[in-house]
Amino acid sequence: MSTAHSERAHAYLSASGSKRWLSCPPSAKLEQEFPESTSDFAREGTCAHELSELYLQRYLELINKATFTRRHNKFKKDNAEFYSQEMEDYVQVYVDFVIERINAARAASSDAVILLEQRLDFSEWVPKGFGTGDVVIISDNIMEIIDLKYGKGVPVSAEDNSQMRMYALGAINQFGVLYEFDRVQMTIVQPRLDSISTDEISTDDLLFWADDFVKPRADMAIAGEGEFAAGEHCRFCRARFTCRARADANLEMAKLEFQKPDLLSFDEIGEVLAKAEELQKWAKDVQGYALDQAENHGVKFPGWKLVEGRSNRKYTDEQLVAQALLAEGYEEEKIYSKSLYGISAMEKAIGKKVFVEVLKDLVIKPVGKPTLVPESDKRPELNSTESAIADFS
Ligand code: SF4
Repeated sequence: MSTAHSERAHAYLSASGSKRWLSCPPSAKLEQEFPESTSDFAREGTCAHELSELYLQRYLELINKATFTRRHNKFKKDNAEFYSQEMEDYVQVYVDFVIERINAARAASSDAVILLEQRLDFSEWVPKGFGTGDVVIISDNIMEIIDLKYGKGVPVSAEDNSQMRMYALGAINQFGVLYEFDRVQMTIVQPRLDSISTDEISTDDLLFWADDFVKPRADMAIAGEGEFAAGEHCRFCRARFTCRARADANLEMAKLEFQKPDLLSFDEIGEVLAKAEELQKWAKDVQGYALDQAENHGVKFPGWKLVEGRSNRKYTDEQLVAQALLAEGYEEEKIYSKSLYGISAMEKAIGKKVFVEVLKDLVIKPVGKPTLVPESDKRPELNSTESAIADFS
């Protein structure tokens, strides 16, 4: 069954939020006190999904050429706010990848099953749990799940990814009795970050994880029980602004208990850097929440007041400004400066493909400023053999 993108329902214990409620079970109940919100990024992602489904439906001949063209035109009209040549290009990267996987599956077994926008029900382990898998492919002893993530914020790894595993559980639940497979491959494609990440697990290991870890945690989450636990997963929690457990964890973290007086050691500085990042995120969340409450709900926080921010002067009407100055006898060169679109705006205007074809020798990527990042970051360390190889290639 295919689910309309904009109507994708969210379960109380959703697959996309599973990292959070598995790590902090009572967050599921606490979140209910806060309204759900959507963003332009989410809507843009929904559009990209719709567009990719259209191309894949056409490739699989689920729709004919005329229907494709009609729907494509309608899509462009309905989504003018987000649609661009850039979106077409990025969606194509994902579609090409999926087609490659479909062909590989068909080569391995002629009766390979390909499902688009499949509702996947994992309620056997998670009460009322379901999600929507973008692409599910079942062939010769393996089931593959592919997920498009259109955002360009942070790379998401498929490794140990609970959202992908939930989808896999749903697919095992639905298709395990109909088809033979003992392995599941899960892939996340993020075309705007040039990232494709894959993980594989046996169905036995996955089911063990589901029975042993997911089910008890889901039961706790439904009952609003278990320990609050702050961490990376707080980032998308609706309670993150005022959650006491997160505040306590951050304030505790801020209490740096150093052993020696006078000067910090390098080890201690490393510790401060690691904590500073999380503290900054938390402080920003609290500041954003407080501003919204003060501005939109009249809340007064003791010791704080709402004032008008600093602003820069701007013209009321550029044309009238130019007319006034030209009438005063100023020449055009004196009052106008022409500039080329920036890289991202140009890429958006002409499309990634043309951008690469025509401008590939005219765009450079200057060496970035050295930045300190956690060791887990995928970029090679500066002055290392790895970075020398990367520079060379
Ligand atoms: S903000 Fe973090 S600690 Fe608080 S409920 Fe949400 S996930 Fe749990």
